[in-house]
Amino acid sequence: MADEVPNPQEMINIDHRPPATGWMDTPTVLRKGIYCYAGNPKSLEYVGLPNPRQWHPEDDDWKLPENWVEIVLDGLRDRLDRFRSLKIFMDICVRCGACADKCHYFIGSGDPKNMPVLRAELLRSVYRKDYSLAGKILGKTVGARKLTYQVLKEWWYYFFQCSECRRCSVFCPYGIDTAEITILARELMNLLGLNIDWIATPVANCYRTGNHLGIQPHAYVDMLDFFCDEIEDVTGVRPKPTFNRKGAEILFITPSGDVFADPGTYTAMGYLILFHYLEQMGLDITWSTYASEGGNFGFFTSHEMMKRLNAPRPSAWGSSGSWAANAATCGG
Ligand code: SF4
Ligand code: SF4
Repeated sequence: MADEVPNPQEMINIDHRPPATGWMDTPTVLRKGIYCYAGNPKSLEYVGLPNPRQWHPEDDDWKLPENWVEIVLDGLRDRLDRFRSLKIFMDICVRCGACADKCHYFIGSGDPKNMPVLRAELLRSVYRKDYSLAGKILGKTVGARKLTYQVLKEWWYYFFQCSECRRCSVFCPYGIDTAEITILARELMNLLGLNIDWIATPVANCYRTGNHLGIQPHAYVDMLDFFCDEIEDVTGVRPKPTFNRKGAEILFITPSGDVFADPGTYTAMGYLILFHYLEQMGLDITWSTYASEGGNFGFFTSHEMMKRLNAPRPSAWGSSGSWAANAATCGG
């Protein structure tokens, strides 16, 4: 992603002193190497996400629909009605700061807008302007601001820097879950076709092949066969995995990275060895090549996408008549 990688000395030189200006008056500069590239329009199109087009984060014009403000504010209203948690999280933060130094993106960047409390405030300030009486009357005095193009760009930059790890929520005395705020902010941006390609293309791949790497069933089988060769070379014992076997007791789904790249491949070989012995003890396990992603990349896009990408799992479990076993990662 970054063309120039800073040296270790530069990397540990992180300035945690806040800027002299208040957060609303500190302009956001989209830094190369920090932002991710825009979602590929083909990937957006594949799953029917709105406004697929070529655009670049450093462009002035992000090619948004003309009524983008209306789309976002309507989307926010809809989500405030549907998600009680969102409404509560928008209203109850007391700015105690307990979460401030818990985010690794703040620790690693020194950028105050990466503090969970301030990340949430990026959305909360717009909520306050349109949905609270004090915000409507007193505006900036009570931390309210209008949704402008610059605010939207700031959302995109910071909400896609949150990995939705939920670490900050563990430290919040009110249980505010900034990851959930991030998820909903991204839902709003996806209404305008604002995604990143680290997410958009894995989502499209999951929808097409059942896993984010785009591995097709026959390739999946080949890869596991190759691991069995390796295990046999080292141990003299060859595991004999089965695939999509109807009636097996357990249908196993693992993150596709485990069958594709090191060090995940060692985990997959570990599973094969483990299952070989468990099967000798009476457990009956089969691997799924169709529901072949233990993660759920829909989690990084919207609740709707989460459901769509999850659909192959229950259907695979249902059609095989098996119990489920899911080794989860990345939103899984
Ligand atoms: S959920 Fe987001 S804001 Fe909270 S600690 Fe994780 S990355 Fe940071
Ligand atoms: S810990 Fe919770 S209440 Fe305190 S500032 Fe963070 S989000 Fe707000």
